[in-house]
Amino acid sequence: MSKKNLSYIEMNTTDDFECFNFREKLKKAKKPYNYFKEIKDLDFEQLASSDRFFLQDFGIYNNELNEEEFMLRIRFPGGRVSNDSVLLIANLAKKYNLQIILTARAGMQLHGLNSNNILEVFNKINNSEITTFQSFGDNIRNITGDIFDGIGKYNIIEVYPYIIKMQEYILNNEEYLGLLPRRLSLGISGSCANVNSFFASDLYFALAKKNDIYGFNVYLGGKNTQIAKDANIFLEKEDLLDFFIAFIDVFNKHGSRIDRNNNRLFHLIEEIGIDKLKEYIQTSYKKTWQSKGETLLEKIDFNEFEKLKNNKYSFCYRSLFARIQASELYEIASWAIKDNLEIRFGTDQQIYLFNLIKPKVPIVHYNGNRTMLACAGSDFCPYSYWNIKDEIQCLPLDKIEKNSILVGFSGCLKGCAKHEHSDIGLVGLKSDLHGKREKTARIYLGGLYTFGESTARFIFEAIPLHSLKELLEIIIDEYEESEYEQFELFSKNILNTFSADFLALWFLAKFKTKEKVYLKKTSNEIDLFNGLFNKYSFVSLLDSNDLRNITKNLYQELWFSEDSNEDKKLKNTYILRA
Ligand code: SF4
Repeated sequence: MSKKNLSYIEMNTTDDFECFNFREKLKKAKKPYNYFKEIKDLDFEQLASSDRFFLQDFGIYNNELNEEEFMLRIRFPGGRVSNDSVLLIANLAKKYNLQIILTARAGMQLHGLNSNNILEVFNKINNSEITTFQSFGDNIRNITGDIFDGIGKYNIIEVYPYIIKMQEYILNNEEYLGLLPRRLSLGISGSCANVNSFFASDLYFALAKKNDIYGFNVYLGGKNTQIAKDANIFLEKEDLLDFFIAFIDVFNKHGSRIDRNNNRLFHLIEEIGIDKLKEYIQTSYKKTWQSKGETLLEKIDFNEFEKLKNNKYSFCYRSLFARIQASELYEIASWAIKDNLEIRFGTDQQIYLFNLIKPKVPIVHYNGNRTMLACAGSDFCPYSYWNIKDEIQCLPLDKIEKNSILVGFSGCLKGCAKHEHSDIGLVGLKSDLHGKREKTARIYLGGLYTFGESTARFIFEAIPLHSLKELLEIIIDEYEESEYEQFELFSKNILNTFSADFLALWFLAKFKTKEKVYLKKTSNEIDLFNGLFNKYSFVSLLDSNDLRNITKNLYQELWFSEDSNEDKKLKNTYILRA
């Protein structure tokens, strides 16, 4: 058997077994479903690596770099949760002094747990009507939907009943719990306008219409760095669950179990093609489907208060860049219980309350920008160099807010803040590209996310933190001076008509010279640049037509500085800790 064709069900010999990654070997050794009964007797101070993997299938996260701390992730199907459950979480967070992070999958993370209290909090949550199961690991993660599902004026089909059926099918399912080749993300929207796009999902059911019937077009293979592809399939709402079941069956059988860097659904499609994947799904689905209908999508900027179908109002409570205090959550839950409001958690990391009689609220609610998605950052995630909450203050927040620019700010290239599905995407890194080792940001521009057209392009490799705000202001100023009313339209019609290399050079030249010049559509980028910057010496380098070389020179001129002798010594010094 060739290694390339190996899959879970084909694993027959010792050689086959050796090809599999560590997680697959664990799955073969013990089903997570059977591991569950061991959790109550675990010594959380003495966890083995295998325990850490298995615990993720039940929503408990701990890593070897920080053994003392535990985190619990809660799933809210479609972002919905009862007021009593929110109150329960608020009380637990208060009692155990936990930090709360809202996730971009409309879930919640409780940080600050330890080996003494993790089991107690885990049991309290899972013995209530909410669950932490399958919120990490190789599972179907929290299923997301439009925040206004069933209640907003842009909603045509309420999808919550289907989300619940899907969750019931997979939750604690012995054959799937922790056993998929890799995680799957799923978004379903029965609305023609959404607060966030769902094209980053592995499987996206998008509202569509065919022959005067509303249903769903199917998109496959999205992830944080890829747009889901049109599968040319139209389903009626009654068929969603069967298709979902067939889809999971196929991914479970055919997804790669060898290289975890290349085994998302996206990679399977790359390897076998979308037609072959559809053929597999068709075999498992056993019914026929129609070719795609018309996807119904429009871009809307939602207000703080939105009038609902029932003539009542919704209200968006802003988190502090995904953070929320236990006391705030307690206040929100108490208010919702008292006034009979409904609470939902959004994929935009905000909290929504529904059924207000008037567009007025009795609580203080302004924390951070509404159009920014932020990852957990170094306080909570070992992969992040940046403390996102603090470093976010270095961005031009007023301009971002005023222009409703969607900014995704990730702490590493895994991209939990979906920076490539944004108008402006940022990744906080550390680099010594400019000599001295310092915090620098990668910048991506021009995602066409609403209609799933393209991800944002990688423009800047490493902008030092101290210059980030000014450079972003120049980019936003360029948009403000354009004729477009949405940044996404500006991207489509202006930014994305230029090469990425040119945009890097253009904005760096503006940063250096402070010239107030603006992009115009042109068939010759070099002529445009020459015409506007010809009085500057760096333009002479354009003779070589090597834009990257000039950009590199500008980077050097602007930011190169060597480590001081003290810094150099520090880099070579080992730190001993007691
Ligand atoms: S983007 Fe990276 S640093 Fe941020 S939460 Fe995700 S894995 Fe952690």
